[in-house]
Formats: sequence, structure tokens, C-alpha cells
Amino acid sequence: GSVIGIMGGGQLGRMAAMAAARMGYKVHIYAPEAESPAAEVADARTRAAWDDEAALAAFAEAVDVVTFEFENVPAASVARLAGRRPVRPSWTVLESTQDRLTEKDLVNRLGIGTAPYARVDDLDGLVAAIGALGRPAILKTRTLGYDGKGQARIGADGDFLAAAEAAFATIAGAPAILEGMVDFTCEISVIVARSPSGAVRCFEPAENSHRDGILHISRVPARISPAIAAEAERVARMLAEAMGLEGLLAVEMFVTRDGRVLVNEMAPRPHNSGHWSFDAAATSQFEQFIRAVADLPLGDPSRLVDARMENLIGDDIERWQAILAEPRAKLHLYGKSEAKPGRKMGHVTRLGTAAVTPVSGDGSGA
Ligand code: ATP
Ligand code: MG
Ligand code: MG
Repeated sequence: GSVIGIMGGGQLGRMAAMAAARMGYKVHIYAPEAESPAAEVADARTRAAWDDEAALAAFAEAVDVVTFEFENVPAASVARLAGRRPVRPSWTVLESTQDRLTEKDLVNRLGIGTAPYARVDDLDGLVAAIGALGRPAILKTRTLGYDGKGQARIGADGDFLAAAEAAFATIAGAPAILEGMVDFTCEISVIVARSPSGAVRCFEPAENSHRDGILHISRVPARISPAIAAEAERVARMLAEAMGLEGLLAVEMFVTRDGRVLVNEMAPRPHNSGHWSFDAAATSQFEQFIRAVADLPLGDPSRLVDARMENLIGDDIERWQAILAEPRAKLHLYGKSEAKPGRKMGHVTRLGTAAVTPVSGDGSGA
């Protein structure tokens, strides 16, 4: 059988490897860290630094196609593999979503809205950006942020310069962007799959809520109108097509009080907000990911039942036995050794009993 090479060793790789195994593929994980939830369920593993030339070359030899489950794999390492094996999504897709500035520029070039934003390279630049965008605002590092890390909020009140200095210190002066605060009614995300042949399928929007800056709950159906759902899917599809995506793209969005859909950020991989699909969709995001990367026909992303996914973060994991006792709760544990605060240890998807409500899903296929 074919071997799928996955760069990154976390729980997204683990669940992708499980989906791949079910479809008869072997999986080879490339990850630098000692502990790897993905490697535990994979057929082979390379443990090496992202820039280890020899290890990258051997990895390419060992696999038939390369993908990634971690958005901060250095694009240069991925580009190295591209000369040897098909890499899906391409390193250019990865690169354009790794930097919040290039990402927002790309979205806006397509005529899709985002929060107002400005580039910040130094403290003077931050002061100018606050002057232009006003307060409240959020300062975010351009690269490497996740789970709300690398961000500083600038409140509406208090001394302007002190607020700027404090925010700049929080991100340690890294290259950043300032974003105006969006007054949203809810946050949603759409996961879109596009295959090398150009077929596109969207999962319906999930409605997301956060706790301490980390995704906590995703529910489907989202409590949004059919018109908003259709707009969100149109935006996700347009981005996938414009980028020439081969794989999955998760698009996080804000729904504004006046009914617009603004893109917050994108990730070219399976996404936490799509975990519900593992238990509640005809095709899970992980199977869809493998199908797209392996250039197979895409699956039906329809939801089969209402669902609510809860992340088990840090100490939440202590509830795992009680969750096992719940009817219609599907527990997933990632096998991580230590429940540190903020660490995603597993998730539970609680299935509804309601008949499926009509969804806007693009059901049309390619
Ligand atoms: P993730 O873990 O999803 O990768 P992240 O660290 O990359 O998160 P963002 O998604 O940019 O960070 O922001 C985290 C959360 O902060 C958002 O989901 C949203 O709740 C809030 N937020 C971010 N930017 C804005 C904004 N411009 N206006 C209002 N709220 C915002
Ligand atoms: Mg992010
Ligand atoms: Mg986010």
C-alpha cells in the first residue's frame, strides 16, 4: 500500500493516521519532539529537527505523498520535500497562512473582509497603528501564535502610550499586526476540502466558543441564518480555489452584528473545530483530509446528527470516566503523558437525538 508522510506529531496527526489506517494506508510521522500522539498510532516515525537535511531526504524516500498537521513546520523544509514527492497542500499555501500579515493581505485581495489591521514593526509603528485603528484593539505576533499566545489586548481606557508599551512588551517586540476589535455575535469556522483534481466540498459551519483563549466548544449546527452559512461556505470555497489548495483548509470567521462574515485566520490542515465530524458526519474531516491528500474522490461531509464537541484541556481530563458513563458521548483521548494547564488532552463529542436539521452544506460536490 501507499505511505502517507505527515509532518507534525500531535493529535491532529494521530486522528489523521487513524483515518488513513482504516483506508488501508500506512503513515510515517516526522516530528522533532520525544512525545508524539501521532507516532504512537503510526507505522513509522522519524524523530529529527525540521531542518535536518538528511532526515528530510530519507523521509521523502520512505513515503509516497507528504502533508502536514502542524502549521508551523518551516515552509523551507516543506519546500525541500516538494522536489522529491508531491506535497499537499503546497508549501506556498503553508507559507501564506503562517504569517498573519500575508494571510490578511491575501484575503482582502479577494474582496473578502477581515478585521481592520495594520503592520507593526516597532513601538512607533504600534502607536501609529493605534492612532489609525483606534481602541480597543489586539496586537498579535505575525507568526507562531496559537491558542491566544503571542497576543496582547489594548483596552479602550487608560493611558495610550502606557497601553502601547505594555502590549509591545507582552509580545517581546516581535513583528506583529494590530487588529481592530470586531464586535461579533458569534465565531464560526468552515473546513473546506479541495482535491488535486479541483473537487471542493465544505463541512457546514461550526459555532465556536473559547475559554482562556483556547477553543472550548464547537457546536453544529451553528446558530446562524442559512444566508450567513451560505456566505461562510462561499468564502471558504473561494479561498481554497484562489490558493489552489490540495488538502484541507480551516477558515475561522467572525459573524458581525450587522450580518457580515469576516475572516479571522486560516489553517491549511484538519482543525479542532472539525472534531465533531469524527462521530457525527458521513465523512470525518480526517478521512476527507486523507482522501484529498491521496487524490481520492472526496467524501460526503453531511452531518448525520446534531453535535457538540468539548475540548478536554488540562485538568478537564479528570472527568474522563464520568464522560464514559454518559449516553451518546464519544470520548477521544490523545494519550499525552502529562495534563499541563492549557494542554489539549482529548475531547468529547456529545451527539444530539434530534433529527438532522436542513443544512446549507454544499452537497453538490465538485
Ligand atoms: P488558534 O488557537 O485558533 O490558532 P490564535 O492564537 O491563532 O488562535 P486568533 O484566532 O487570532 O488566535 O484569536 C483568538 C481569539 O481571540 C479569537 O477566536 C477571538 O475570540 C478573539 N479575537 C481575535 N482577534 C479578534 C478581533 N480582531 N476582534 C475580536 N476578537 C478577536
Ligand atoms: Mg491560529
Ligand atoms: Mg484562531
